[in-house]
Amino acid sequence: MYIKNNVLSSIKNLANLERMTENIEPSLRFEIFRECQRTKARTGRMILVHHTVDTPVFMPVGTQGTLKGLLPQQLEELDCQIILGNTYHLGTRPGTNIMRKAGGLHKFMNWKRALLTDSGGFQMVSLLELAKITEEGVKFKSPYNESDCMLTPEHSIHIQNVIGADIMMQLDDVVKSTLTGPRLEEAMHRTTRWLDRCITAHKRPDEQSIFPIVQGGLDPKLRTESANQLINRKVNGYAVGGLSGGESKDDFWRMVHLSTNILPANKPRYLMGVGFATDLIICSALGIDMFDCVFPTRTARFGCALVRTGQISLRQVQYSKDMRPIDESCECSTCKTYTRAYLHHIVTVETVACHLLSVHNIAFQMKLMRDIRESIKEQRFPEFIQQYMLDVYPDKEYPPWIISALEAVNVTLL
Ligand SMILES: [Zn+2]
Repeated sequence: MYIKNNVLSSIKNLANLERMTENIEPSLRFEIFRECQRTKARTGRMILVHHTVDTPVFMPVGTQGTLKGLLPQQLEELDCQIILGNTYHLGTRPGTNIMRKAGGLHKFMNWKRALLTDSGGFQMVSLLELAKITEEGVKFKSPYNESDCMLTPEHSIHIQNVIGADIMMQLDDVVKSTLTGPRLEEAMHRTTRWLDRCITAHKRPDEQSIFPIVQGGLDPKLRTESANQLINRKVNGYAVGGLSGGESKDDFWRMVHLSTNILPANKPRYLMGVGFATDLIICSALGIDMFDCVFPTRTARFGCALVRTGQISLRQVQYSKDMRPIDESCECSTCKTYTRAYLHHIVTVETVACHLLSVHNIAFQMKLMRDIRESIKEQRFPEFIQQYMLDVYPDKEYPPWIISALEAVNVTLL
């Protein structure tokens, strides 16, 4: 009888457990609506705890919890569904105590939609010359009081758990994208070991997802090995890292192509640090779903506005009497309100000009991604690519890397 009761109760427990796990919503659900029949592009949506994000998506970077000059409400008006926060900045200032008191970054900055945080490692290695990488983590001198600090995979995840972004990045062993030799191989293997430590340290898996980062530099063998190691881990999405750092465009697209060929099709793929229009289009064709870059807001600070054919520098005298908006087809508040002549007039003297150009540049990126998604949905993405490239290169002198990258996904330029 005793045994029977025990068996009965464990069956009951098992049933309870099943019911409980059924009720837990995953922290990320990825649905693909449509795949391009010619290229590797796909369009769909990521259902995150704070917001549903249409893909392919461009994520603007909000360095210190806010985009330079733009408020959360304006980002919402610009149709941004997800933005990126830098863990290095948020973890040191305001720091995890303030962040915890505020109830996470969403509440702290009053941003209700989705957030992604980086691990803090890249910022550290690129900002602090004295950063030293050991098996334990990234060792560095505090920029505030010169004391020795260590960012470990566990510490990075702890800070990111407090920040509370929908997607967190694993701490990876960052090396220059053009590096070769044994250090590159060491960094690739260490990145996988650090991923496992990050996954173990993660305290909020039902609210936040960790993305591993495919490394391996420009070495096809190492990158293949890296991707194959990472796809064995239980995660909700993947990032492709270590690119967009000064390598040739030919190496760049080949590494993206190789990575997306290995990464599982049913999970989102994020290409880190990429944001030029041409790259967004080509890498969407290569099967990337998410992008981020400081470029649109950084270039705005230098007086540059993004347009279909590239960018225009409003500092140039030729715009001093130009009464057209930056872009006649753009629906952003800057284009609806101000002329190029006015923007030229204020661009060198007023910080408000940087703000106005940032609004336009973010609107430009959002519109481009909407166009990409629509054309994939309507099975006319190859034609969209052909037309876009023709607009940018009307003389048809396409850079060879663009021709090869597109040929790899069955698109021939006009
Ligand atoms: Zn505009």
